[in-house]
Amino acid sequence: MSAPVSTTMKAFVLHGAKDIRLEEVPRPVPGPGEVLVAVRAAGICGSDLHYYAHGRCGNFIPTRPFILGHEFSGEVVAHGEGVEGPAIGTRVAVDPSRACGQCKQCRQGRYNLCPKMLYYGTASVVPPRDGCYAEFVTAPARNCWPLPDGFEYAWGALLEPMSVAMHAVMRSGGVGGKSVLITGGGTIGQMILLTAVAFGAGKVVVSDIKPFAREFAEKHGASGTLDPTSPSAAEDAAKLSPGGFEIVFEAAGVAPALDQAIRHAAPGATVVQVGTLPDGTAVPVNALLTKELQYLGSWRFANVFDRVIEMVTSGRIDPRPLITKVMPFDNLTDAIEAAGYGNEMLKMQISRI
Ligand SMILES: [Zn+2]
Ligand SMILES: [Zn+2]
Repeated sequence: MSAPVSTTMKAFVLHGAKDIRLEEVPRPVPGPGEVLVAVRAAGICGSDLHYYAHGRCGNFIPTRPFILGHEFSGEVVAHGEGVEGPAIGTRVAVDPSRACGQCKQCRQGRYNLCPKMLYYGTASVVPPRDGCYAEFVTAPARNCWPLPDGFEYAWGALLEPMSVAMHAVMRSGGVGGKSVLITGGGTIGQMILLTAVAFGAGKVVVSDIKPFAREFAEKHGASGTLDPTSPSAAEDAAKLSPGGFEIVFEAAGVAPALDQAIRHAAPGATVVQVGTLPDGTAVPVNALLTKELQYLGSWRFANVFDRVIEMVTSGRIDPRPLITKVMPFDNLTDAIEAAGYGNEMLKMQISRI
């Protein structure tokens, strides 16, 4: 076994709001069933931005400094006990969901609902669990998906958010031939657009207050876009899909977008909640009632990593436009600052290739 010799590594450690330090920390050692992955590409996600800006994420308050990041790909460099593959040297993307494997939800294949789910780079547990903004990360071998030849590390680091989008589309029951509205043209909203187009949606309309998001959607397969703040928003929506939309994805995570999603849903439509709404957000229940809407949650993802790899490999989804910028690994803090909310940005990544 060609285990790396050094016992330390470089990692970015979050100490508090706007305080990330590049430090030398102990290198993790793969346990039974785990591999050691040398991180090659990592994405910056909304939750990372929250932790950076506020030193916490909602109710998750870190009890010690920790390493952020959960979207990554890399190379397998060492095996723990009992691991048969992927072989050393394999390029992999890592599904960051570490579920218990034992509970009812896990046994039913819905491991995204596991009450003991442990993600990477999160303070949802005590102590916090370290993430991928480091030279090395351990991962269960079964969470590592080999990347086909020509499949770039950067695309591998996109598989987690793309899986969120894929799961949402699958939760909808199928978009083929249907009229689809996506409220919120952020990273996940645009990934839902690309996925819905690839799955043969009849039409896909994206609604966002930002011109940048609307322009991106129009360039990448949307049949139309809406500015929800425009006085003519209701007429514009009616023109784009008379009678409403058959499938709506709420990917903005703000109350006005949920209102809009339910308002523009056709009678009998399915509305999939993908964005995280503030606690206590009111749901327009009488519209649910009288239009007999199905209002479904879509939480993270399960069992779709390989499907997304297939969709990208076959050329049905092009991940390249989603990556707005890649910066060197050592510039994580600059990358996070540049990825901050309000910037014209979909996915920012750091890379060590
Ligand atoms: Zn993410
Ligand atoms: Zn479980």
